[in-house]
Amino acid sequence: PYCFADGQFVPTQDATLHASDLGLIRGYGIFDFFRTVNYQPLFLEDYLDRFIRSAEKTFIPLPYSRSELKEIVSELIQKNDLKAGGIRMVLSGGMSENHFSPGKGKLFLFAEELIFPAKEKYEQGIKLLTLEHVRPIASIKTTNYALAVWHSHIWKEQGAEDVLYHQNGYVSESSRSNFFIVKNNEIITPSEHILLGITRKNILKLADIPVHIRPLTLKETLEADEAFITSTTKILLPVTQIDEQPIGTGKPGPISLDLLKRFKNLESELTKA
Ligand code: PLP
Repeated sequence: PYCFADGQFVPTQDATLHASDLGLIRGYGIFDFFRTVNYQPLFLEDYLDRFIRSAEKTFIPLPYSRSELKEIVSELIQKNDLKAGGIRMVLSGGMSENHFSPGKGKLFLFAEELIFPAKEKYEQGIKLLTLEHVRPIASIKTTNYALAVWHSHIWKEQGAEDVLYHQNGYVSESSRSNFFIVKNNEIITPSEHILLGITRKNILKLADIPVHIRPLTLKETLEADEAFITSTTKILLPVTQIDEQPIGTGKPGPISLDLLKRFKNLESELTKA
C-alpha cells in the first residue's frame, strides 16, 4: 500500500516521522477516519469539515488547503485501488524548539483495510461496561486515546465490547463511538462531552421518529427500550447489555435495525457507479 507522507506518496512502510515530533513526545495531534465505498469517499465533506476544525482548535497549522486535501484523497484511492476500505488522515503536532508549542503540522494519509465487526454482533447485540470518565476536549478528534487503550483490558476482561462513559449520572459516549437510546418510540442521544460523529449525524437525519439531543442520564439509559452505538467502522451496533443489565428485551430492537438498514440504503445510493 501507498500512503501520503508529509508531501509525497511513498510505500506505507517507508513513511517516517521525526522522533522529536510533538505527536510522539507530547501525544499531540489530530486525525480523522472515513470509508470508501465503490471507490468513493463516503461523506467526505463532513469528515473534511471536522478534520479542518480539529486542526484549527488545536492550533496545528494544516499545510494543505481543503481542495488539496481532496486531491490527495482521490490520488490515494487510485494508487491503492481502494474500492472499499478506510482512509486515515493524521496531522501530528510537528517539531518545536521548546518541545511544547505546536510546530508546522505533518500530514499523513493512510489507506487501510477495513474489517467490520462479526455478523453475530449485529444479530445479538453487544455488551458495554460503564466507566466513570469524561473525555477531555471531547469535541476535537485528537490522537490521544491513551486512556481508552489503557482501559481496554478492563472491558475485555468483563466480556464487553467497549465502554460507556458516564459522569455525575450522565452518559456521554463509548471510546470510539456515539451512544443512543430508544424509549417510547423516541430517540435520545447525549449532547455534551462527545465527539460529533459523522455517522451519528447521518443516522439522526434518517430517523423518522422524534429525536432528542440532550443530556441523558445513566438511569434512563438502563431503562431504555433499545440502545445502540454508531461509528464509521461499525456503522450501527445494537447494545443489548450494559454491565449486568439487559437492555429492553435483551435483543437488538426494531428501530435500531431499521436505522442500520436505512443507513446502508443511503450508502449505496450515494456511491452508485
Ligand atoms: N466518539 C469517539 C470518541 C470516537 O473516537 C468516534 C470515532 O472514531 C466516534 C465517537 C464516532 O464518530 P464517527 O461516526 O465520525 O466515526
